[in-house]
Amino acid sequence: MSLDLRHDVPLAPLTTLGLGGPATHLVDAADAAGLREALDWSRSRDLPVLLLGGGSNLVLPDAGYRGLVLRTRVPGLAFEARAGRVVVRAGAGVPWDEVVRASVERGLAGIECLSGIPGWCGAAPVQNIGAYGQELAETLVAVTAYDRDGGEVVRLPSAACGFGYRNSRFKSADRDRFVILSLSLALAPDARPRPRYPELADAVAREADLAALSPGEALRLVRERVLALRRAKSMVIDPDDPDTRSAGSFFLNPVLGARAFDGLVERLADHGISAPVPSYPAPGGVKVPAAWLVERAGFHRGQRHGGVGISSAHALALVNRHGTTAELLELAVSIQDAVERISGLRLEIEPTIVESPPA
Ligand SMILES: Cc1cc2nc3c(=O)[nH]c(=O)nc-3n(C[C@H](O)[C@H](O)[C@H](O)COP(=O)(O)OP(=O)(O)OC[C@H]3O[C@@H](n4cnc5c(N)ncnc54)[C@H](O)[C@@H]3O)c2cc1C
Repeated sequence: MSLDLRHDVPLAPLTTLGLGGPATHLVDAADAAGLREALDWSRSRDLPVLLLGGGSNLVLPDAGYRGLVLRTRVPGLAFEARAGRVVVRAGAGVPWDEVVRASVERGLAGIECLSGIPGWCGAAPVQNIGAYGQELAETLVAVTAYDRDGGEVVRLPSAACGFGYRNSRFKSADRDRFVILSLSLALAPDARPRPRYPELADAVAREADLAALSPGEALRLVRERVLALRRAKSMVIDPDDPDTRSAGSFFLNPVLGARAFDGLVERLADHGISAPVPSYPAPGGVKVPAAWLVERAGFHRGQRHGGVGISSAHALALVNRHGTTAELLELAVSIQDAVERISGLRLEIEPTIVESPPA
């Protein structure tokens, strides 16, 4: 048995929130063989399995996890020119921002706006990470994954991943079925970035005229500006910034069709909120910023709820200030209730809320 099993492992330090009790067992798998061995070990003991990456998009129970926590730490980052594109292959255990940094350094466009997103590559397709007008699905070619149903390694092309806004089959219909081992992306060499997101486009324009820069310089500038914007909102992990003890945005931005949006405007007006309701075009209608709704519902940045609270830099990030998961979830529900009262919308929680399996 070559499994490097550890027992009674504190999980809080393995997450960006710093919350959650210990795991009864934890193992790191560096390849498909190690993964299969770990899954066989848990199956033979009838133990549930929790897939963990960098721990930046999940909330773990205070009671810990009674089962096997499995981290897929497949290494490797490679670049290969093919048919006018460069295919980037990254192992599940590679930090996502390392892929962005190395790609921008090589002058490859397509993921520069996704700079600074924490976590590992294996989880990036799970919620189709996105930021500043770009999302993973735009450049992802395929993932390789271990199919726990079929007991084999499969290649899933992008079209088979069921990508949507912060969603995929890995987060919905086939949650926990596939363990992602690696992903491949197709990036554009020597392409000048064209930031679409107004806040980013303005920040870039204040620094330079992108058209006057070489494509490589332009890419580097976009990455730099994205990182600066993110840092200002405490959205880049920084041990010296207590507002980064979060899981990023805690709620998804609601996407509404035209009629639902009109209904929202009316309902808000009934509650005395007649300011123009912000909205941005999105597939299927318009996106309404959840942070705006949270603030209209009476919550404010920096607000405390026992040992947790709302980030002082961003109304959508719930932060741990030496509290508990129970307090965090209590705060989340009180925000959902208050937003629902004024808007009729129930905000959807973005991170995975992990339940502790029964003893
Ligand atoms: C400060 C901050 C800022 C953030 N900003 C953004 C942002 O701008 N945009 C954005 O989209 N997200 C953002 N996030 C959320 C998060 O960084 C991403 O969702 C990231 O991809 C999660 O990666 P992870 O390795 O930490 O996954 P984890 O949190 O460890 O896991 C997330 C989910 O993926 C599953 N999973 C993990 N590894 C695998 C695997 N190998 N195979 C299958 N399933 C797996 C887990 O079971 C869990 O359900 C932010 C988070 C923080 C803390």
